[in-house]
Amino acid sequence: MAEPEQVDVVVVGLGVGGEEVAGRLAEVGLTVVGIERDLVGGECPYWGCVPSKMMIRAANALAEAHRVNELAGSAQVRPDWAPVAKRIRAEATDTWDDKVAVDRFTGKGGRFVRGSGRLDGPNRVRVGDQVFQARYGVVLGTGTRPSVPPIDGLADTPYWTNHQAIEVEELPASLLVLGGGAIGLELAQVFARFGVRVTVIEAADRVLAVEEPEASALAADALRADGVEIHTGVKAGRVGHDGGAFTVYADGAEFTGEKLLVVTGRKAHLEELGLDTVGVDAGQRYLPVNDRMHVTDGIWAVGDLTGEGAFTHIAMYQAGIVVADVLDHMRRTKGGPDASGTASVVGGAAGVVSSVGGAMSAGGSSVAPGTVPVADYRALPRVTFTDPEVGAVGLTEQQARERGVNVQVGYADLTSSARGWIHKTGNAGFIKLVADADQGVLIGATSAGPAGGEVLSALVVAVHAAVPISQLRHMIYAYPTFHRAISDALRALK
Ligand SMILES: Cc1cc2nc3c(=O)[nH]c(=O)nc-3n(C[C@H](O)[C@H](O)[C@H](O)COP(=O)(O)OP(=O)(O)OC[C@H]3O[C@@H](n4cnc5c(N)ncnc54)[C@H](O)[C@@H]3O)c2cc1C
Repeated sequence: MAEPEQVDVVVVGLGVGGEEVAGRLAEVGLTVVGIERDLVGGECPYWGCVPSKMMIRAANALAEAHRVNELAGSAQVRPDWAPVAKRIRAEATDTWDDKVAVDRFTGKGGRFVRGSGRLDGPNRVRVGDQVFQARYGVVLGTGTRPSVPPIDGLADTPYWTNHQAIEVEELPASLLVLGGGAIGLELAQVFARFGVRVTVIEAADRVLAVEEPEASALAADALRADGVEIHTGVKAGRVGHDGGAFTVYADGAEFTGEKLLVVTGRKAHLEELGLDTVGVDAGQRYLPVNDRMHVTDGIWAVGDLTGEGAFTHIAMYQAGIVVADVLDHMRRTKGGPDASGTASVVGGAAGVVSSVGGAMSAGGSSVAPGTVPVADYRALPRVTFTDPEVGAVGLTEQQARERGVNVQVGYADLTSSARGWIHKTGNAGFIKLVADADQGVLIGATSAGPAGGEVLSALVVAVHAAVPISQLRHMIYAYPTFHRAISDALRALK
């Protein structure tokens, strides 16, 4: 067995969260080993947020061009996927090559190891023949992979996950999309706008089932207007593939398409991480963490793996907390900088402290040495980048009622706001506010519309900082903006 090599921190999985933690700890002088088995940067830059939003940007340009006919004369639009595929290859992913990302990490002083990491006892990680013993701890940021439902026949077919959908060079004539969540709807609308005949099959009784019912209806209407067929409350029972086409058999109906995209959720593969060697149950859906991202002594987790929200901004937020907590743990550890004065480590930690004028920076917030921010997900924002966009924060009305909150709801239709009326075609949307009447604050909100994700920011501040509704009512909202509809929804609160 290889002799373990002593390092300060080992990070397993260099996706959004892991790369951020590893890079920042390396930058302050710790010896950090970062292990990645696929591409440094993870799902977001190569098969997720970035390329999908490039696709959406292109598809929305087509839709906006069609709107010229109603507003400004006439425009003829001829969709062409080639520039989109080229942009994803050349600008977003370097043809799925992570050299730039690896160099970014090693440039910060990190040591990169390509391979699959696995815990091998407390503070110890094995990758191939190499074993690393971490002085201060191990950070797991191994993310999730597409979860493929156990539908009869599906596993034997060449179905697509988000990977093939993002990598596609030539569009199929038709596409079945299994799953009407955010990712399914975003991709369905993109492909439909490029002329693909798209059918969405969703088992729940509405698409975007985790958001407000009004958001589900809005998104479904928008996609239908783009020619997407949507079937909700339909559970796929069997999948067949005859070489040229897929057939999904569901509740007595049959749906056919040239390709089948499965976007029914994501799965953390805890069984691969050696958690049993540190006494942690690997049979859970996600890896539970406390509010400082601790899994157990000497182990932190970050990102999708934690089940706190599958978003890049959650992974980055948690990464800030992990960095602060690892450094705090290091100071407290016998042999850490405060205790031993070890030059390399003191230099590193002090670098962090001094870089923000005596305060330690964690996820953008300033933290006095020895104190660490704790995770607070009350104001978790999420955006579905369909057109119209659906932005949401905090609790939905139903979630709030289930928690026994004395709920008030305010709703304003964007089309009848000044800006919505001016905007005309493409103006569908709304603001919905969920208030705690006893506390006099907003605890959730949805802003759907042409700039729903941007309008959301004001509502995130309101929920995050628990701004009193009385103050929100007395704010000045610029005229005629989309966000001014927030004041209409505030007036409608009851
Ligand atoms: C199509 C799509 C669109 C999305 N759009 C958005 C969006 O618009 N906004 C948003 O906020 N989020 C979006 N997301 C979600 C976002 O991509 C994830 O939340 C984010 O990537 C999570 O980061 P992570 O670090 O937790 O995991 P990941 O990015 O999944 O990275 C985990 C890394 O760990 C590696 N790994 C796993 N196991 C091991 C091991 N044992 N050893 C070594 N390496 C390992 C993997 O190879 C991977 O690179 C989207 C996702 C998809 C699929």
